Amino acid sequence: MLSTARIALNRPLRRLFDYLVPEGLTLKPGQRVKIPFGRQQAIGLVVETDIEPPAGITLKPIHNALEDWPALPVETFQLLSWASDYYQHPLGECLFTALPPALRRGRPAIEKAEDWWQACGSGAALPANAHKQKTLLNWIAQHEQGAKGSDITKAGFTRPQLKALSDKELIQAATPAGETSRSQQYKETVTAPKLSAAQLEAASQLPVPADGFSASLLYGITGSGKTEIYLHYLKQNLTAQDQALVLVPEINLTPQTVARFQRYFGERILVWHSALNDSERLNAWLKIRNGEPIILIGTRSAVLLPFTALKTLIVDEEHDSSYKQGEGFRYSGRDVAVYRAHLNRCPVILGSATPSLESYHNALGGKYQLIRLEERAGEALPPTISLLDIRSRPLEGGLSRPALESIRQTLDSGSQALVFVNRRGFAPVMMCFDCGHMVECPRCDTRLTYHRRDRAMRCHHCDYQAPATETCPKCNSEAFKPVGQGTEQTEDILAASFPDTPVVRVDRDSTQRKGSIQSILKQVNSGKPCILVGTQMLAKGHDFPNVTLVVVINADGGLFSVDFRAPEQLIQILLQVSGRAGRGTKSGKVVVQTCHSDHPLLRTLCHGRYLDMADQLLEEREGGQLPPFRAMAIFRAEADTMEQSLQILDNIKPLASAPGIEIWGPLPALIARRADRHRAQLVLNADNRRRLNRLLTGICQSLEQEKYPKGAKWMIDVDPQET
Ligand code: ADP
Ligand code: ZN
Ligand code: ZN
Repeated sequence: MLSTARIALNRPLRRLFDYLVPEGLTLKPGQRVKIPFGRQQAIGLVVETDIEPPAGITLKPIHNALEDWPALPVETFQLLSWASDYYQHPLGECLFTALPPALRRGRPAIEKAEDWWQACGSGAALPANAHKQKTLLNWIAQHEQGAKGSDITKAGFTRPQLKALSDKELIQAATPAGETSRSQQYKETVTAPKLSAAQLEAASQLPVPADGFSASLLYGITGSGKTEIYLHYLKQNLTAQDQALVLVPEINLTPQTVARFQRYFGERILVWHSALNDSERLNAWLKIRNGEPIILIGTRSAVLLPFTALKTLIVDEEHDSSYKQGEGFRYSGRDVAVYRAHLNRCPVILGSATPSLESYHNALGGKYQLIRLEERAGEALPPTISLLDIRSRPLEGGLSRPALESIRQTLDSGSQALVFVNRRGFAPVMMCFDCGHMVECPRCDTRLTYHRRDRAMRCHHCDYQAPATETCPKCNSEAFKPVGQGTEQTEDILAASFPDTPVVRVDRDSTQRKGSIQSILKQVNSGKPCILVGTQMLAKGHDFPNVTLVVVINADGGLFSVDFRAPEQLIQILLQVSGRAGRGTKSGKVVVQTCHSDHPLLRTLCHGRYLDMADQLLEEREGGQLPPFRAMAIFRAEADTMEQSLQILDNIKPLASAPGIEIWGPLPALIARRADRHRAQLVLNADNRRRLNRLLTGICQSLEQEKYPKGAKWMIDVDPQET
């Protein structure tokens, strides 16, 4: 008798499909198969074999298996099944996330060979107007060992240009060369700096792979040398066969980090990020699946790759919100990494100067081991932080006179200054710039949010609303405005105030072009006086040895946001950006402009000890019965009208009513209309994660049976980062 297999498809469906297994075919979970699906064919992944065939239905047979080994090895398969259940995302889409795009489309799982090229003629033969081809020929000629096709296109040349040269027989195919000799060079030229006593002490507390599963939170202040510890740890503990994974928030912003790893480990380093093309992805995926002893430096999705010999995971800047996927399969790369280490029985190290409250809470509860590193490496000292109250001070482009004066002094002494415009956690809260007053909800302990479109003030925790006023309700001042500031305006003022100094803007807009961040970093690293102005991108792990002053334009947006995570994010970003000051031999100074210099959180900031602030914040979270003391999930809905969105959520509400579950909403989302879609949300706050998980599974299953108006949809977000 033929057996039956259960197959997952790459579709947003919470169901699997049963097929007959043809004679002679043996299948394992995680294997790719081709199946008939409707009138088409589809690629599926085997979930279960030898299942009881459903009664009374004639099943179609599987077409064939794409290879005789599972694309997803056991442990990766288990990881994704767990994640599908935990995040309530359809299993098929979760499993397919772990495949490179080529394999999702059914392409063969074989390495796409890299083409190599060598110059074999002179440009004299080219017509005078073939400038591009001449440049390319020269470029290739400079690579005596041959140049790789993908490097050629990365350098800005095109395939047609390459073909033209090849047709003219000015270049010829070369055999791959130079790779291993280059990696040998790396190893020989680099001598690792000796770890300081404090680094050694921290490193000695880290469990080794042979100890099995462990999770450690490495709390090391900015510039304390955490990266050096990771390098040292991997060098000491990885055998020649082992794989390791180093998760980083964003690779493109910190090319220096990858370079440091490459200097230590040469060709053993592989990178994984969104800018790779399909064949680069496939090739990296195959190396990992084949168990090659790779040390992978990757962004979020790297944690889902099919490692077979993974012996260590490191999550750098573990607090970074980019570890949480914001759409579709909304997983947290950090939390999945911890589960992966557990499945794999190996250590995971979470490193940060500003640990997330979730991880810190786990450390306090004994789930994670807390390791502290509270000295800077080398000569550098932590910067001094001071608050500058800007109530009733005139501001130009957000900058006060004393702040501009500090910048002038810094430049005069030959150093660089960094001006930070904080937009993260920015919520449109109305504030009086004369008395500091903000309008609170009469029924809740929160501020009202300003809705520009209908000039209204609303509470996002209850249904209260009031019309917005033109002047401060308390002191009648006309300086009553939404809090917030743009980088462009600040850049203009700085350029006008310091006409002889280059002003370099670093934000999403100024760094979109490929390579622009590199040229910015180069300018800063030249050490010549300049002013950097920008957003959170400036706070990310950069090493700017000649920056000695950091000015924070507006600390207040995050202090009074309606998002309960905003104060945590504010403190993290302020300390991270402060950490850019004084990393070299000169000491650093941080000036934080605020209208609330007496705010307890900002006062603690001046002592600069993150864990004190984290303790304070955790106390507030516990008082408010919020995560990490409770488990949270949000149902989101979007539709052509707000009524439809609210209706979807109204229908969920009775399903979610259960003991131990608090329900907030449904309410319009903070940004209620985005791209003409009306969005709303329903928050579930539970005292028991397991119970919440079971409840969500039931709700999601019943929601899937419902019919919705055209264009309307619902989503579930477990452990949301944005509320
Ligand atoms: P973190 O990752 O904690 O911010 P890094 O590892 O980037 O810190 O180190 C900060 C700076 O200190 C880097 O320039 C690094 O080269 C230097 N450094 C780290 N460890 C040492 C050491 N033991 N001796 C000298 N310099 C060090
Ligand atoms: Zn309210
Ligand atoms: Zn006022």
